[in-house]
Amino acid sequence: MQVFDSQELLDRAELEKLQAVRLKNTVYQATASLFYRNRLARSGIKVAQVNSPEDISRLPFTTKEDLREHYPFGFLAMPREKMVRLHASSGTTGTSTVILHTQNDLNTWADLVARSMHCAGVRSSDTFQNMSGYGLFTGGLGIHYGAERLGCLTIPAGAGNSKRQIRMLKDFQVTVAHIIPSYALHLSSVFKELELDPRSLDLRILLIGAEPHTEEVRARIQEIYGVQAYNSYGLSEMNGPGVAFECAHQTGMHLWEDAYIAEIIDPETLEPVPEGQVGELVLTTLCRKGMPILRYRTRDLTRFIPGECKCARRHRRIDRITGRSDDMMVIKGVNIYPMQVEKVLMSIPEVGQNYLIQLEREGYLDQMQVRVEIRDEFFVEDMRELQKLQQKIAGLLREEILISPKVDLVEHNSLPNSQGKAQRVVDKRNEPG
Ligand code: ADP
Ligand code: ZN
Repeated sequence: MQVFDSQELLDRAELEKLQAVRLKNTVYQATASLFYRNRLARSGIKVAQVNSPEDISRLPFTTKEDLREHYPFGFLAMPREKMVRLHASSGTTGTSTVILHTQNDLNTWADLVARSMHCAGVRSSDTFQNMSGYGLFTGGLGIHYGAERLGCLTIPAGAGNSKRQIRMLKDFQVTVAHIIPSYALHLSSVFKELELDPRSLDLRILLIGAEPHTEEVRARIQEIYGVQAYNSYGLSEMNGPGVAFECAHQTGMHLWEDAYIAEIIDPETLEPVPEGQVGELVLTTLCRKGMPILRYRTRDLTRFIPGECKCARRHRRIDRITGRSDDMMVIKGVNIYPMQVEKVLMSIPEVGQNYLIQLEREGYLDQMQVRVEIRDEFFVEDMRELQKLQQKIAGLLREEILISPKVDLVEHNSLPNSQGKAQRVVDKRNEPG
């Protein structure tokens, strides 16, 4: 039986006291790096002026471009000989960025992941399968060491090879797995092929994260597998998984405020948004020595959930990430996020487990086409029935996104599946026609 770690249950005042001390140390530590020495000198801020968590607003922001410009070692605040691990982001939005860790940094990270998993109800008696890609991607080793720290029997399955994944789940009587949500949906069709009911396994918890997904997708995953699925948020610039995690109440993710200071800003004005409103999440590491990062603009959109959680934790909660600020599509002058489309599709029973948004330009007009997989049992030969379904989907989408996309119904398993993060949007607007 695991107990809570001592910092998990701190009250607000104690948390803020700890943040103040750690923030000062972090700023001091950061000045040892080439990047922050220059950046802080230019902004004129002195370590002595940082005495409370609010003082963070005096510090300059750090962006993904900064990390790219100082690739690979410009952010190191300790000699390279002290670093023991290098990770990189998945490169979803361009060149990846690299993050290096000391042994101590890795230990703190493993503690945070162990705490996160415990928070979602995982215990040392669980058998845990990590279905995340290993290698540079942080979802592999990051979760792995946390699971071992918690004491789980840990299976480093890696990504892909669906039939083998299912065999391991079954043979090793796995009770908890970490899986990317789009892959969890895809895997259900492989279960079908094998004529095996996912609900007949010993699985009781799925940890899902690494990509935006809707409440509707969580509901489907819980239904398909007969489990509780908990949202897990992290990014390699802030270690990886273990930044924010859901507890048993599934009402937003506790962001570990003893390890990170979180702000939510308006991406235009860079000012904090009023409590409870959606904006861009900005994070500062408080425990990292090898490569501290101050006020990192994640580009992820979320909000603080007002009020306290029903559990004992006082670390504030963030809401499901609605997407990245750069995911926004502008079509016929309307701003649309892929998750709005997903929310509609996944609430329609006839819709299967995969979809793809395609953007095209016809003449001077942007067109949006939504390709939707239909469940086998609804895929009928009758053209009229299919047309009716198509119209129903288009109508529901129009209500949500205010434009009428073309809806293309396809058979199950005909859209590309990804073993890693799903690519939901293909933008062909700038391709020569
Ligand atoms: P990349 O930024 O190249 O994808 P990472 O592998 O570091 O590299 O992924 C971190 C990003 O993944 C986050 O910034 C966020 O956009 C997304 N992400 C991670 N976890 C979640 C989650 N639970 N919900 C939504 N998005 C997530
Ligand atoms: Zn809670």
